[in-house]
Amino acid sequence: MVYAKPERRSWAEPFKIKVVEPLKTTSPQQRQQAIREAGYNTFLLRSDDVYIDLLTDSGTNAMSDYQWAGMMLGDEAYAGSKNFYYLEANMRRFYGYRYLVPTHQGRGAEHIISQLLIKSGDCVPGNMYFTTTREHQERAGGSFVDVIIDEAHDPESLHPFKGNVDLQKLADLINKVGAKKIPYICVAATVNMAGGQPISMENLRAVRKLAEQHGIRVILDATRAVENAYFIKLREQGYAGKSVAEILKELCSYTDGATMSGKKDLLVNIGGFLALNDEKLYDEARNMVVVFEGLHTYGGLAGRDMEAMARGMEEMVNEDYLRARIGQVEYLGSKLLDWEIPIVEPIGGHAVFLNAKKILEHIPQEQYPAQALAAEIYLDSGVRTMERGIVSAGRDAATGDQHRPSLELVRVTIPRRVYTQAHMDVTAESILAVYENRKKVRGLKMTYEPKYLRFFQARFEKIPASSRPEHPAGARLETEPR
Ligand SMILES: *Cc1c(COP(=O)(O)O)cnc(C)c1O
Repeated sequence: MVYAKPERRSWAEPFKIKVVEPLKTTSPQQRQQAIREAGYNTFLLRSDDVYIDLLTDSGTNAMSDYQWAGMMLGDEAYAGSKNFYYLEANMRRFYGYRYLVPTHQGRGAEHIISQLLIKSGDCVPGNMYFTTTREHQERAGGSFVDVIIDEAHDPESLHPFKGNVDLQKLADLINKVGAKKIPYICVAATVNMAGGQPISMENLRAVRKLAEQHGIRVILDATRAVENAYFIKLREQGYAGKSVAEILKELCSYTDGATMSGKKDLLVNIGGFLALNDEKLYDEARNMVVVFEGLHTYGGLAGRDMEAMARGMEEMVNEDYLRARIGQVEYLGSKLLDWEIPIVEPIGGHAVFLNAKKILEHIPQEQYPAQALAAEIYLDSGVRTMERGIVSAGRDAATGDQHRPSLELVRVTIPRRVYTQAHMDVTAESILAVYENRKKVRGLKMTYEPKYLRFFQARFEKIPASSRPEHPAGARLETEPR
């Protein structure tokens, strides 16, 4: 018998399935109606109309039996819940910061740190913007300044650490505006908007050094810091022999605090925190959390939610889990690459990012190609993805003009421990089907634009096949009042 021996042995998820949630399939007619009613915005679809939900990895994780068992140990005391103290102990153990302020999710922490540190007219440099992070920085009177390396804006660059800060850009900014105008440097690990790209330890160490010379704080967006630590282990010299847990702690040691969305790395459905080392700042944060989230020992969470997060921290650093997690994203991305579908490379940690600018090169950015592509994938199969391009980038707070990001992407985001390899196959084949018919895809016109974080609730219509733009592309929206 002749058989083809596999080049290498297969891997499998390091868990088995104990509870199942049935999936629903829909007809093309149902999907047509659903996406039209949703204004061609996948955020406005009902999840009941979705087959495989790859909108986000936020809060969509499957918890383990260990976490579910912990939920039954929720201490729902208003003050001093034992689950809080366990979460605090585990945060110190895995992240190494001194003080913990729980929040309902990541943006609760972003709100507090922004209000406490940013004054009107300040600049907050960061390795590419994140939607909610920048919104809170601007609300506090600051302006975000992108100091990520140029490679991050190039979907085809194979740089292994596209999340790195460009130290020259950072130094130039400090020289230009002065350290007094920079309350902190906001460093994300991994960088979501760049395609789930990691920052290297060497780079963060250098950022720390520069910041220290000028007396500027470094605040980490630790949302996917574990996944970043795993990439450091794989790619950075000197780290192959270290555990991910050790790498994570070293990463955090170069920063003064962190905002955290527990809905990602921590393998839960809700939760977040602010972590700090400075006692005085912690006192202020602990005071402010009472106003916006809840008492400082629950911060908007139930005791059981804090227990699930604390247990999630113990599971997130398990390297068999991380291999399967990152491996699944890699599996999906490699399939698309084999079919020569343009995606962001290297393949990121939490998602495969389709290069909509290249796939739909006949659609100008002002007609929202990534938004149109996400709608088209849903129409094909009921797989839900998300726009990460001009719609997500929003408008300049000062001028009202649309930001024009060079990355115009569709994020195909993989929830943790939820879907199987077969789901990845179905997804890849749907993307291929849309890719093959890409010339027929038409652009969109925005018919409703919310004031804040517009991508969540904006509505669109398909531009009819026959119509030609009356104005140069983009002119109409640009002159509309905000
Ligand atoms: C999700 C996310 C946030 C915000 O967290 P929420 O829990 O959604 O409020 C902040 N930063 C990054 C990088 C994220 O991915």
